[in-house]
Amino acid sequence: MSEDIPFDKSFNLPPGQVEEVMPGIRRLLCNNPGPFTFKGTVTYIVGRREVAIIDPGPIEEAHIAALLDAVRAETVTHILVTHTHRDHSPAAARIKAATGAKTYAQGPHRAARPLHVGEAPPLDSSGDRDFQPDVALADAETVAGPTWALEAVATPGHTANHMAFALKDAPVLFSGDHVMAWSTPVVAPPDGAMSDYMASLEKLAHRDETLYFPGHGGAVRDAHGFVARYIAHRKAREASILKRLDAGEADIPTLVRAIYIGLDPRLTKAAGLSVLAHLEDLVARGQVATEGTPSIDGRYRLVVAVA
Ligand SMILES: [Zn+2]
Repeated sequence: MSEDIPFDKSFNLPPGQVEEVMPGIRRLLCNNPGPFTFKGTVTYIVGRREVAIIDPGPIEEAHIAALLDAVRAETVTHILVTHTHRDHSPAAARIKAATGAKTYAQGPHRAARPLHVGEAPPLDSSGDRDFQPDVALADAETVAGPTWALEAVATPGHTANHMAFALKDAPVLFSGDHVMAWSTPVVAPPDGAMSDYMASLEKLAHRDETLYFPGHGGAVRDAHGFVARYIAHRKAREASILKRLDAGEADIPTLVRAIYIGLDPRLTKAAGLSVLAHLEDLVARGQVATEGTPSIDGRYRLVVAVA
């Protein structure tokens, strides 16, 4: 299923240790490993003396202390947040309180679409609803310090408010959870939307950056080749859904069993939501039909084109 993407899981930075990955870019791992976070959240420090912090991470005291220690001789001027999941944004308030820096992000947490009647926010309420950026960034807006400049690149899909940040005068993009070397991200309604996610991948395919620093795991090298594989992977997933539906109407658990072979049982719910994301997109495009709005409990069938 995922053999088509050359995932790179070599990432051995110990939590709490600051590593300079490139001149002017430091990274620090938070000790919050898990099935969705890999080894944990990676926080970046950009620039020297007057610096920006990207994704402060969850409220994890050791991480917050290590991050503040890493910048103790410097001034933090900007706190940027790629998206408002609980493993990325909650510590922004703490870093802001300690440094006086302003927070920057696309906007507060929001779903990609309204919740259906009776639908609960999925994945253990992973959204950080407390975070409100001091400064709301628009797509293509630039923020800068004396030694760095970052362009906001709106990349909705994993969440509606996801932004990547492109470093000016370098082929570098901080890709958040949109593109990661170790795994594809979960695209789960109602936070996520597959049509947005695919459009955001196409957007990166047409940009110049070739080296991505993601929110989890190590760098993505040959980023254009990698993004092309990501797009092909999602299209293949969509093709398998259509192929299974060609054999007859099905519900989401049936589709998950047919498509995900050897799935980590902890990811069954996420896989179901990912299939729902594809089905929402396919229903919107008129290729698949269901009763009412697409839902996790729905049954789905192929729309057969009449010649
Ligand atoms: Zn994350």
